[in-house]
Order: sequence, then structure tokens, then C-alpha cells
Amino acid sequence: MNINLEHIYRADQMKKNEPLKDYLYTKMGGEADVLVIPDTYEQVAKTVQYANLHNVPYMILGNGSNLIIKDGGIEGIVILLTKLDQISNEGNIIIAQSGARIIDVSRYALDFSLTGLEFACGIPGTVGGAVYMNAGAYGGEIKDVLESIIAVDRDGNVIKVNAEDLGLNYRTSNVPDNGYIVLEATFKLTEGDPALIKEVMDDLTFKRESKQPLEYPSCGSVFKRPPGYFAGKLIQDSNLQGVSIGDAEVSKKHAGFIINKGNATATDYIALIHHVQKTVKEKFGVELEREVRIIGRD
Ligand SMILES: Cc1cc2nc3c(=O)[nH]c(=O)nc-3n(C[C@H](O)[C@H](O)[C@H](O)COP(=O)(O)OP(=O)(O)OC[C@H]3O[C@@H](n4cnc5c(N)ncnc54)[C@H](O)[C@@H]3O)c2cc1C
Repeated sequence: MNINLEHIYRADQMKKNEPLKDYLYTKMGGEADVLVIPDTYEQVAKTVQYANLHNVPYMILGNGSNLIIKDGGIEGIVILLTKLDQISNEGNIIIAQSGARIIDVSRYALDFSLTGLEFACGIPGTVGGAVYMNAGAYGGEIKDVLESIIAVDRDGNVIKVNAEDLGLNYRTSNVPDNGYIVLEATFKLTEGDPALIKEVMDDLTFKRESKQPLEYPSCGSVFKRPPGYFAGKLIQDSNLQGVSIGDAEVSKKHAGFIINKGNATATDYIALIHHVQKTVKEKFGVELEREVRIIGRD
């Protein structure tokens, strides 16, 4: 596939046949035909226009913490947004570019004594990735604090969309259905007591560190919470903890996580996901729906 983006990007912003492993929290998966790293909204919009004109597929990458890219890699253009990472505020309104880490936005809110984003202090994704799946934890979710986004639509136009029009629900939004690329998010927070905000964040960090296998690459909770159950408990009760395929292993610390012990391939990881789903279905009759997205060539 002939992809020519030199009129949009500087040489240092474009890489051909680039291994994506190093950009992904999971530390596995194949190459991108072309990886681009925009630092302006205009570059993102122009990339979409180029892709439409030349019929080239494209996809968006944040921090790769909710994504498994198959070992055959990604056809077309991968747009990595982590250089769009500015955060600012006006009073209790925080504006964060989509590639900023949601953890940093949460810390920024603490610096300005703003409450509402404490729940996000340990979620290792970007703002865009967090909006995409209405990320949440410990009783809070993006939906509670998001006011609007700036996005590039399918036609390459930069538009504003209000939060209520984003279909934000449990770990889902209509961002993928609409083909939006989130460029920026506006959060409405409330003034709070910095000591209390910090106390909540420290407590959540402690809970996370004691329960989750953060010393290994992973994609966090692999499965959504099935109605009436907890995915981790079903997996634990199926005696799956410690089961591995290659270097992919069902975590012994948190059954809802599958860790990469070092050299797991995406193929190993996906095979283990299927094994877990099959075993839980056989034992408890419950279908585990994936929270993590799997994309790319086999
Ligand atoms: C250790 C660990 C703990 C976790 N804990 C939690 C948790 O408590 N709660 C929770 O909700 N999640 C959690 N996650 C999952 C993950 O961190 C979140 O889903 C996060 O929001 C994903 O963001 P990302 O930037 O990594 O997205 P990526 O994995 O890069 O992308 C995920 C999807 O979003 C799309 N996307 C990314 N950015 C944009 C954008 N700007 N515009 C349009 N589409 C975009 C991608 O194309 C892809 O389809 C955890 C993950 C790990 C590894």
C-alpha cells in the first residue's frame, strides 16, 4: 500500500513498518504499515481527509492499555495521539488534549483543588481512550464529569460534541460508531478540599497496588462485569489463575487480569482469553464479554 503523508507530517513524525509493541501498555503485537504522531489538530483532520481520498484504513492509538493488536500488525495508518497532551483550566473547568494521560489530568485537578476525577488517578490510559470507553473505577466514571469534546469526524471536520450526545454508558460510548477521533475533552469539576482529594487518591492507589498485578504489562480487566456476577470471581472459581499459554498468564494476584510475563505474543494472549471464556461458560453458563478491544491482521 502506497501511503504518502509527507505534505502533512515532518519526517520525525512518520515511521514506516513501525513495531507497535513499545507504544502499547500490553507490550505485544505487530507493526503499523505507517505510524504518524501528530502535534496539531489540523494534522489529524488532514490525515482523515487523505485516508478518505485514497481509501486507506486508519486507526487511533492512545496508550494501548485497552487494546490488543494482533501479531500481523495494522494495515494502513496508525495515528498515535500521545503528543497532543496539553492540560489547562479556567476555574473549575479543565481542558485536556486527548493524548494527555488521564492520571495526569487527575493530578492536575488535585493541584487546583478540584474534585471529581479522583477515580481516574490509576487508570493508565489517555483522555481520548477514557472517553472512548467511558472509563471508570471505584464508583466514578468519565460520564460524571465530561462536559464536551472536540473531535474530528469521519469526513475530516473538526466538531464539538456535547457529552450527552456521546452515548456514555458502562464502558461504552458512541465514539466508535460515529467514527470520532477525540482531540480534546472539557471536564467540569467542583472546588474541593485538597487534603481530602489527596486522601481519596492515595486510598485508591493503595487499593490498586495491593490488588492488581501492576508489575507486569497487561490490558487491565479483560472482561466486562457480567450482570449479577464478577468476572474475576468466576475466573477464580474456575481454577484458572496461573493458567498460561506461552508467556500470557491469568494473574494469580487478580483473576480478571491476563499478564504478559515477558515475551507473550498477541496470539498467546488471545488464545488464553478464549480458553477463559470457554471454561467459565462450561462451568457457570456465563458468557464473559471482552472489555478489551482486539484489532489487526492475524
Ligand atoms: C493496569 C490497568 C488498569 C486499568 N484500570 C482501568 C480502570 O480502573 N477502569 C477503566 O475503565 N479502565 C481501566 N483500564 C483500561 C484502560 O486503561 C482504559 O480503558 C483507558 O481508558 C484506555 O485508554 P488508552 O489511551 O490506553 O486507549 P487505547 O488502548 O490506546 O485505545 C482503546 C480504544 O480507544 C480508541 N481511542 C483511543 N484514543 C482515542 C481517541 N483520542 N479518539 C478516538 N478513539 C480513541 C482506540 O482506537 C481503541 O479502539 C486499565 C488498564 C490497565 C492496563
